[in-house]
Amino acid sequence: MDKIQMKTPLVEMDGDEMTRVIWKMIKDELLLPFIDLKTEYYDLGLPYRDETNDQVTIDSANATKRLGVAVKCATITPNAARVKEYNLKEMWKSPNGTIRAIMDGTVFRAPILVKGIEPHIPHWTKPITIARHAYGDIYKATEMKIDGPGRAELVFTDENGYEVRELIHEFKGPGIIQGMHNTDGSIRSFAYSCFNFAVDTKQDLWFAAKDTISKKYDHRFKDIFAEIYEEEFKTRFEELGITYNYTLIDDVVARVIRSDGGFIWACKNYDGDVMSDMLATAFGSLGMMTSVLVSPDGKYEYEAAHGTVQRHYYNYREGKPTSTNSVATIYAWTGALRKRGELDGITELVDFAGKLEKAVIDTIESGVMTGDLASISKLESAHKVSTEEFIAAIRANLEKLM
Ligand code: NAP
Ligand code: MG
Repeated sequence: MDKIQMKTPLVEMDGDEMTRVIWKMIKDELLLPFIDLKTEYYDLGLPYRDETNDQVTIDSANATKRLGVAVKCATITPNAARVKEYNLKEMWKSPNGTIRAIMDGTVFRAPILVKGIEPHIPHWTKPITIARHAYGDIYKATEMKIDGPGRAELVFTDENGYEVRELIHEFKGPGIIQGMHNTDGSIRSFAYSCFNFAVDTKQDLWFAAKDTISKKYDHRFKDIFAEIYEEEFKTRFEELGITYNYTLIDDVVARVIRSDGGFIWACKNYDGDVMSDMLATAFGSLGMMTSVLVSPDGKYEYEAAHGTVQRHYYNYREGKPTSTNSVATIYAWTGALRKRGELDGITELVDFAGKLEKAVIDTIESGVMTGDLASISKLESAHKVSTEEFIAAIRANLEKLM
């Protein structure tokens, strides 16, 4: 069989710990035998990030802007313990944060559905994708504790020194205040990423905030989304038969629970933080959550939503058997290969991504799965296999499909 040829390379961002082990297995067993894989390789493993003073992370993000599609392995975000463990020069920042800032992107997270792993909401038969705005609000807020009576005001001073003031509260006793912000630029990028992703995946888009109470702040989000939709996306949405709806956040929560899924839910920063954890739990497993960072000008970085699975890695290093779920990492690769195939007009690559995903689903639905899934699967045939056995079973199913 001839290997599938590629035109443009993918940006390949290698990572850390158990996911780095899985990364190599996926390439060796599931990709290289079938594809003449072209990648521009960046080693985002912590030792090399430290060696390059994190320059490699910046280079990989710039490569994504240049080439358009990246696939990323999970990486360690260092804390004090990691600085010691890896003898780091510095406590380097989160690679995901660095890449997100350079690409100015929005993160979309969606679950992978399989028979036997039932969501806690039984009528959620289609995935729900969360789009979380990743800038500002309480994550960049300034707070104050007030010890006694006094007057709190919002003050804005423009470039010419002209001041605008608004009363926050006349305190009669102790209390708290918080000042937060967002920028039109960031909200616009968020909106573009959401509309483009909806068009790309042909799904309805819901955006929810609380503009009835927050008449300037949340209302600004609503207006910017409405303006961009009317001017640039309405016709395309109508052609594709998809819809854009703005709804109050409390309404949307009720609708989501009653729905059967199959849409994108755009959330402000805090709402997205809370709701994505709620959805991941309700859909069953972190090992089955995919994640893609989309820039406003349509560049894509695919990854798994989970981390480097440190506990499993320590077992692996000691030669103990592991049963780590590789599904979300495999889907990061299939997402990137499919997108690359679409952009370069290589149907074989798009088909291959579909076949590899089908091989994964066939494997799990035949009862062969890793421990995290075996413990929640309703299938009678469900049994736990090792990290290696799971990938070998997918390989066997993939060969049947090729
Ligand atoms: P984690 O890697 O997400 O794992 C937490 C726990 O969830 C695991 O111990 C395991 O539970 C379960 N789990 C997660 N993924 C699994 C999989 N694929 N298969 C089976 N079980 C899975 O989080 P962590 O161990 O707290 O963090 C490790 C490192 O990951 C940290 O250094 C953090 O900075 C980094 N991180 C990176 C990213 C990213 O690059 N996107 C995201 C989050 C965290 P059991 O132990 O019970 O089996
Ligand atoms: Mg959270």
